[in-house]
Amino acid sequence: MKVRVAQRKMFLAGKWVTRDQTITVTNPENNEAIATVPAATKEDMLEAVQAAKKGAVVSAKLPVFKRIEIIQLAADFIEEQQEDFAVTIALEGSKTIREARKEVARCIQTLRISAEEGRRLEGKTIPFDQSSGNENRLGYYSLFPIGIIGAITPFNDPLNLVAHKIGPAVASGNAIIVKPATVTPLSALKLADAFSQAGLPDGILSVITGRGSEVGDTLVTHPDVRMISFTGGLETGTEIAKKAGLKKLSMELGSNSPVIVLNDANLNQAVDSTVSGAFWAAGQNCLGVQRIYVEKDVFERFTAQFVEQTKAYRKGSKLFDSTDMGPLINEREAIRVEKLVNEAIKQGATLACGGNREGAYLEPTVLTNVPPNATIAKEEIFGPVVLLFAVNSLQEAIERSNDVNYGLQAGIFTNHLQAAFEAIQRLDVGGVMVNDSSDFRIDSMPFGGVKGSGLGREGVKYAIQEMTEPKVVCFNL
Ligand code: NAD
Repeated sequence: MKVRVAQRKMFLAGKWVTRDQTITVTNPENNEAIATVPAATKEDMLEAVQAAKKGAVVSAKLPVFKRIEIIQLAADFIEEQQEDFAVTIALEGSKTIREARKEVARCIQTLRISAEEGRRLEGKTIPFDQSSGNENRLGYYSLFPIGIIGAITPFNDPLNLVAHKIGPAVASGNAIIVKPATVTPLSALKLADAFSQAGLPDGILSVITGRGSEVGDTLVTHPDVRMISFTGGLETGTEIAKKAGLKKLSMELGSNSPVIVLNDANLNQAVDSTVSGAFWAAGQNCLGVQRIYVEKDVFERFTAQFVEQTKAYRKGSKLFDSTDMGPLINEREAIRVEKLVNEAIKQGATLACGGNREGAYLEPTVLTNVPPNATIAKEEIFGPVVLLFAVNSLQEAIERSNDVNYGLQAGIFTNHLQAAFEAIQRLDVGGVMVNDSSDFRIDSMPFGGVKGSGLGREGVKYAIQEMTEPKVVCFNL
């Protein structure tokens, strides 16, 4: 489909603005330009922060019923234009139209949950008389917004991961400046439009399009920005954490998630779920299944079934309903992943299927016999490649699952309660899914990782905890 190159504006404190310098957004499927967005400068970001100072005051004073009303209206706006939002995600990113539609539905949910959580910004009374001498004291704490939040988001869920920051920020009375991924800014701009149409007062939200190293840096280091809520890779997250100084940090980083399949598992269920978990969004999913540890008695059967289903996966144009998997975000990324695969094969891995690349498209790829210390087995692949390992026991599966620098989520397929509990206790991750793949998530659960997978939790209610501070009040009667 030939698409007109639209000149998109960015959302600076309630105003839609253009700039002479622009960034071209392209469709990774064919490299066609689909839109341009302003290449914001440091000055633009400073202006957004200045406006957010006033915005934070307005936001904090906005009564909760009004915040709820605005967030619900933004969700209604998206609901009315669901297909338009889905096409935007599918054009600028890697997702197929079916995957994009699911993301839009999730975004609406995230906003509706945010509105509901607005009602639950609750504090507690404190029994001050628990220490002697305070018999006459009475008090409580309540939650106060932190002020200005800087949000930096990745390309792979360009709408819902932005909603996971804006929804909780508005619900809890903060101002927020979003720096969306440079390659996928259009979905975030549409989300800003939804909030603007919903009547969000000026200054509470800005979406500043630009390059991470330039505008991102200004946001991260600005002393008036009280929190950085970052979702992205470990390397960028580490760099940001070093520069941010005395601020709250929420770091939702990458992973190379493990799934364990035991002898007693329902193999059909395990294969269906792990194939989908490995190749969703062409494997560009922080929760994506990367390493599968299968008990040796069922390893051959599991592998045969897994490879058969993988081969049935249809790569193709993202806007066709029949397409199962789209391209990676660009050709450079596809080449990077292809190299990791070839390097593993040189080190002794067996290519069970896939491995061929055409432009930004890489076939869904399955590797077995990967040496445990190969880069591909230790680092995050972030592409449509999955590694299958035979293991002797649950113990070995758990130890190997943990033997990496990441820990976002894990999955285990078994019907043995005891085995499931052992995995839950010992897996070093932020979430364990029993009889589901590592990529299972709902938007209201606490979500985040340990080790190199990050700091803090998202999942509306938990994001609100990070975005507020308790203020203690004590009456000396
Ligand atoms: P990335 O780290 O390259 O970029 C993320 C964001 O940071 C982008 O907006 C980018 O422009 C910005 N950025 C880059 N350099 C910066 C700098 N110096 N200062 C400030 N901002 C800067 O990540 P990506 O390639 O967009 O996304 C993929 C990564 O995100 C993967 O590692 C994936 O696992 C992770 N991810 C994590 C989660 C989660 O919730 N844990 C969700 C989705 C993606």
